Amino acid sequence: MFKKILIANRGEIACRVAATARRMAVKTVAVYSDADASAKHVGFCDEAVHIGGSAPKDSYLRWERIIEAAKATGAEAIHPGYGFLSENEEFAQACQDAGLVFIGPPASAIKAMGLKAESKQLMEKAGVPLVPGYHGADQSPALLRSEADRIGYPVLIKASAGGGGKGMRAVEKAEDFEAALASCKREAINSFGDDAVLVEKYAQRPRHIEIQVFGDMHGNYVYLFERDCSVQRRHQKVLEEAPAPGMTEAMRRQMGEAAVAAARAVNYVGAGTVEFIVEQRPDGSMNFFFMEMNTRLQVEHPVTEAITGLDLVEWQLRVASGEPLPLAQAQLKINGHAIEARICAENPANNFLPTTGTLNVYDKPACTAFERGVIRIDDGVRQGDTISPFYDSMVAKLIVHGQTREEALARLDEALAQTRIVGLTTNVQFLRHVVRSPSFANANLDTALIPREAAVLFHQEPVGLALAAASAIAQALLAEKAAEGHDPFSRRDGWQTHGVTQRPFEFEFHGEPAKASLTYGHDGSLQLAVGDVSGPLVFSKSAQGIDLQFAGQRLSVTVHAQGEVDHVFTARGATQITAIDLLAHAGESHAEGGRLSAPMPGKILSFLVKAGDRVEKGQPLAVMEAMKMEHTIAAPAAGVVEELMYAPGDQVSEGVELLKIAV
Ligand code: ADP
Ligand code: ADP
Ligand code: MG
Repeated sequence: MFKKILIANRGEIACRVAATARRMAVKTVAVYSDADASAKHVGFCDEAVHIGGSAPKDSYLRWERIIEAAKATGAEAIHPGYGFLSENEEFAQACQDAGLVFIGPPASAIKAMGLKAESKQLMEKAGVPLVPGYHGADQSPALLRSEADRIGYPVLIKASAGGGGKGMRAVEKAEDFEAALASCKREAINSFGDDAVLVEKYAQRPRHIEIQVFGDMHGNYVYLFERDCSVQRRHQKVLEEAPAPGMTEAMRRQMGEAAVAAARAVNYVGAGTVEFIVEQRPDGSMNFFFMEMNTRLQVEHPVTEAITGLDLVEWQLRVASGEPLPLAQAQLKINGHAIEARICAENPANNFLPTTGTLNVYDKPACTAFERGVIRIDDGVRQGDTISPFYDSMVAKLIVHGQTREEALARLDEALAQTRIVGLTTNVQFLRHVVRSPSFANANLDTALIPREAAVLFHQEPVGLALAAASAIAQALLAEKAAEGHDPFSRRDGWQTHGVTQRPFEFEFHGEPAKASLTYGHDGSLQLAVGDVSGPLVFSKSAQGIDLQFAGQRLSVTVHAQGEVDHVFTARGATQITAIDLLAHAGESHAEGGRLSAPMPGKILSFLVKAGDRVEKGQPLAVMEAMKMEHTIAAPAAGVVEELMYAPGDQVSEGVELLKIAV
């Protein structure tokens, strides 16, 4: 076994590979770009080498620099992860030429499978069933058009060098072919530097089912069963599971053997995935066709690990160091069901456009061991880290395992509920909607699931205004109480305030203004009215957040305030509500004892008063910038300014005292 390896990647996969290496007492070398100087993977490895600027072409794609780093640190082998250099045959060859082991297949196998058209020609010879189509060398538009006519519409034009869901155009009818071809070629040349295309029959409502294969240097091959990755957006996977629902033993063996034949045809070594498009017949039978082979470890490999109990990175390291495959086909068994959800920085409501931001809050479910039903999180970020525009938008992978699909599904839903991210728009809530959609719950899977379930997925409000407002108010009152607790002179009984019996709140919820009114009873009880819902509001602090009772409902909520926006998380879903006068309220409460604190982290723009000034109630005192907005902090009562604690330009954290006022 190797003593030291270099991991030529970043993020979750770099951490994932390092974890197995550590378990096997193999030392690890990380590489990092400027943007990743303090990234999780850097600290996770035994040593780290800076390799250049933030853009991938200046760092993670600079293979000469990476090979240099491996030699300088005494690493014997390089693990490429996925993406970046993982499917670059020149890099694999350069490693070998430099006397380093590339932890992956031989350069010749990467090359053979690198172009979709060439690999289809190879597969045809190996007897692997192909999607009907044209994958020849003649690229004249007239010929491609006549091939499309022959195949029959709809067809899919694919960049032969494509990947990551890019460079594909579906064509519904003959008249649209030329324009689609031109636009596909433009994207292909821009993204992959190669505009060769192939044309395929565009399967209707197909499933994406892929087979994990493994080969060693001694000519042994196995398949580690299938993964169903049909749930996609932009031709990219969102949810993956193993085994594939409805898969029969006979079909599994047939697909497994076809995948092994594909691997054998290119003398494959290491971990690889053969992707098939599967057509479902009305009678329930399935027809499978080769789509492409990914010559690397796949993002979704953990579901295979969960059902087989194996560590695929360990297998990769063993095979790369020359050992035979640890197990033979007959020794491989499927146990239970596993599902992976990709948590991405993206906005489902805006066509899944990637987003950037900071993980101000990043709460995760507790990970559990195998015997308790696995909850596993693979990520490469920590709370406080930023998702930058330079790299992939995937934040984390959440993997669950259960004895049955139902069990795994329930566990996934709960684990997603416990995944609370604030500061960054993500698909977490969307994923919960998918998991609970009738199609997904009933394993009615195909690549059109998301558009088909659009009504359930995009227009759902799991937490309504009344509960959102009640949660925000409960949180604000608990914060006030906590603040008072530190100051014996302002301690009050229960929620009683001096002379105040009613308190108005203004909110914005889904772009609509909303009002709420809180009434303090003499006995310390609270009545809340939000829109046309009213009743007693009862709450208490719990380990998780707040135990809340309102409007005939009782639930546990967690509220994270970011500026004026309260992010409300409950078991049934998450929502956001904007407290329009939150600052004034926060100021009021914090100011009761003559102090004013920052209601959120931000920058002081200016102080509008100086020490010694007499101020009136409501007079603006300071302006802060937070969450790209300006906020004015006003005097809660008349008094004299005693001291300013900061200067304009200072960065302040939440809760710090900004100025003192003698009332
Ligand atoms: P998988 O089949 O393993 O799920 P994806 O298609 O989701 O693979 O790609 C995995 C990751 O690999 C992507 O998130 C991206 O970072 C990278 N990747 C794959 N193909 C490409 C490509 N052609 N260009 C750039 N990045 C790619
Ligand atoms: P990539 O290299 O980008 O992963 P693939 O060829 O694997 O490209 O295709 C990506 C996805 O596009 C598939 O998972 C599937 O959802 C869809 N797709 C690809 N080929 C077809 C086809 N012939 N018919 C229908 N859908 C297809
Ligand atoms: Mg693919």
